[in-house]
Amino acid sequence: MGDRNGAIARVEDAFDNGAFFDVLNERIKIESTSQEPERAPELARYLHENIGPALEAELGCTWKIFPNPVDAGPLLIAERHEGDSLPTVLVYGHGDTVRGQDESWRDGLKPWEITVEGDRWYGRGTADNKGQHTINFAALAAVLQERGSLGFNLRVLVETGEEMGSKGLREFAAANKDKLRADVLIASDGPRVQADRPTIFLGSRGNTNFSLTINARDGGHHSGNWGGLISNPAVQLVNAISTLVDGKGRLLLDTLKPQPISNAVRAALADLEVDGGPGAPVIEPEWGAAGLTPNERVFAWNTLEILAMESGNPAAPVNAIPPSAMAVCQIRFVAGSDYEAFLPAIQAHLVANGYDMIEAAPTRGAMAATRTPLDDPWVDRALASLAKTTGEKPALLPSLGGSIPNDVFTDTLGMPTIWVPHSYAGCSQHAPDEHALGPTLRSGLRVMAGLFWDVGTLSR
Ligand SMILES: [Zn+2]
Repeated sequence: MGDRNGAIARVEDAFDNGAFFDVLNERIKIESTSQEPERAPELARYLHENIGPALEAELGCTWKIFPNPVDAGPLLIAERHEGDSLPTVLVYGHGDTVRGQDESWRDGLKPWEITVEGDRWYGRGTADNKGQHTINFAALAAVLQERGSLGFNLRVLVETGEEMGSKGLREFAAANKDKLRADVLIASDGPRVQADRPTIFLGSRGNTNFSLTINARDGGHHSGNWGGLISNPAVQLVNAISTLVDGKGRLLLDTLKPQPISNAVRAALADLEVDGGPGAPVIEPEWGAAGLTPNERVFAWNTLEILAMESGNPAAPVNAIPPSAMAVCQIRFVAGSDYEAFLPAIQAHLVANGYDMIEAAPTRGAMAATRTPLDDPWVDRALASLAKTTGEKPALLPSLGGSIPNDVFTDTLGMPTIWVPHSYAGCSQHAPDEHALGPTLRSGLRVMAGLFWDVGTLSR
């Protein structure tokens, strides 16, 4: 019953007649930021009053809300079971946003309601992540209406702690493997490589933050009387860091480098032109790992950054040798990097180079790097589906440069991950004036309706 084009026509109608806008606007109006403890009731309200009832009404799902196993927002699992022999798809989204930053939005804009200006739909969560999961739920509903069934089993997971580092998600997934088991994750977050180019990514880089600290003595000492006689922690620290990464941002310590880039990854990256959107900084070709393309540097290599550093008081310098120096550093790394070896290797390297006065310590938990292999059958299926809908070759990104909790799905739950993002790099996610692009939202609805339609034909 029904056909693929019919499902796509249904989401186009929903976009064009304003029904999609209305659904998304109701979600934006719920001030569900996870970064302000006093808004915690809004996280629960988002799931209880909006997402749960919507999935029940539009997709015939049963649903349940679970408390977070650690101190963070609740999680929702919904399910529609159509048959034991059918494939099962897990769809994930996050209902929380970063804080509204209400005072900082441009005149005429506000975070907690959509304002449309030309192609731009402004509002907190339009890009990250309410707009994206609203597209996926609308596409599923269109397939169900057109076909009368999805043709697969559906499970939905919506968390509300993503902007706090997906607090509790790993523990929750580990404790609820039966309820979340699926053949594939199909989810949406993050940017397309270009706003008008449908994109699939398969995982993300990870990150680990650490501090390097020298505490030499209690107070500062006059640089005239003591310079040349006692060590300067700031001088030691910058020299030590320059043995880890050089003046062109190139890693110097082999342990910090990833495995060589595979030919399959090189080929996928060679096809991409990454557009940061208006106002994006200019890429500096001399910066970063030698012999790699810019795409390879950001999507397939590791980087060490200094995020912040302090010694003395730069706002009011005095003629004294500072007693201490501290830098907070970050390594972004691709899947396959032995990131648990980074910090011990750095400490050992510093000692071996005479910097045994430096203490290296983690400053927060690391985010693992994982990705689904390029030759997984779901990758070709998804690429073929997007190409069929749009008539163009979609971009395939092995890993997102930023970090998402992909390891929960690949490692904890053990399934391939297909991410189909519906935003773009210029969306001001996490900043004032966050927005989605109308044409990208409409395109996202079309490719997801086509993709879910095609998944429903697999066992026929
Ligand atoms: Zn975010």
